[in-house]
Amino acid sequence: MVRSHKLKMASRFIVNRFKKLHPFEIQANMLNECNLKCVYCNCPEVKMIQMTTEQWKKIIRDLRSLGNIRFKFQGGEPTLRRDFRELCEEAQQAGMITAMPSNGILLVARPKLLDYLDELIISLDSPNEETNDLLRGKGAYEAAVRAIDIALERGVRTFVNMVLTRENMNDLEEMLEFCEGRGIRLNAQPMMFERKYFDPRALALALPHAQMRSLNLRLAEWKKQGRGILFSSQVYQKASNWSDYNTLTTSSKENSSCIAGRFYFHIEPNGDVHPCGLHGANFAPKNILKDGLIEALTHAKTHNCGDCLMPYMNERKALFGFKFAALREIVRRS
Ligand code: SF4
Ligand code: SF4
Repeated sequence: MVRSHKLKMASRFIVNRFKKLHPFEIQANMLNECNLKCVYCNCPEVKMIQMTTEQWKKIIRDLRSLGNIRFKFQGGEPTLRRDFRELCEEAQQAGMITAMPSNGILLVARPKLLDYLDELIISLDSPNEETNDLLRGKGAYEAAVRAIDIALERGVRTFVNMVLTRENMNDLEEMLEFCEGRGIRLNAQPMMFERKYFDPRALALALPHAQMRSLNLRLAEWKKQGRGILFSSQVYQKASNWSDYNTLTTSSKENSSCIAGRFYFHIEPNGDVHPCGLHGANFAPKNILKDGLIEALTHAKTHNCGDCLMPYMNERKALFGFKFAALREIVRRS
């Protein structure tokens, strides 16, 4: 069953690889609302118009016909959309791998939200309840841990994402042991993420350069030792060599050749299409509702964001660039 699914995905990739447009992976911000307020996240405070259920369903169907392989529901907290399960079903029935980062709160109350989900990324910043809840809010730890157990019981591939700050940097190895004890993999990333959703009031919690470097080196080393780290050692090694952790991206002189805007796209709740959620490009997006899906996707490759720090994005680049280490990780994880 798993094998035939993989073959289907591989054949979809091969059939569509040489077409003009191939949005193999989509990160879709469904809404900006959240039932938490993590110290470093401004997302719930950014208001944005949301596309309707029918508009998303049509986008999912159209993306399927363009060869989409993986559809990542993102927010805010994606489960707060009343149609989350319905849209997830639509994507899974279109043969896409469905994925979602979540704080887990609603999954505990309504495990059926996981019915059409293939991959769950739980946000957890520490194996210590007090530290985690200091960063993410009261009750966040209990919900996240319970959601992990529920997802594992239901056979959903589950991962943990940890945001590194001064408060939790000493918990990294214990966090890894927590994940290894449950047979799941861990990614740890710097506190800065999607620029407009970062809460600058949290800057005081940012790790100094030397510590960021050494934590990334440890992640790379643990990976080489076969421990439960999510991405390949190369992307953490690259993060350890990043020259300035206050600058997430660098520009390219010409139009960028990055896979974001070619194989990978980011859609905002209102239908704006960006190359990715982190890009530092001076880029005016086109909108699916106003300009049409094809035009909005085609336009996303006209940016000058040249390189970035984030292990997640660098793993995507290696994957679509057919780098062996990234392909091996995908096979190991599935
Ligand atoms: S980081 Fe995630 S869980 Fe925390 S407030 Fe932002 S969207 Fe919500
Ligand atoms: S270089 Fe990184 S941040 Fe910039 S567009 Fe590409 S993936 Fe996104």
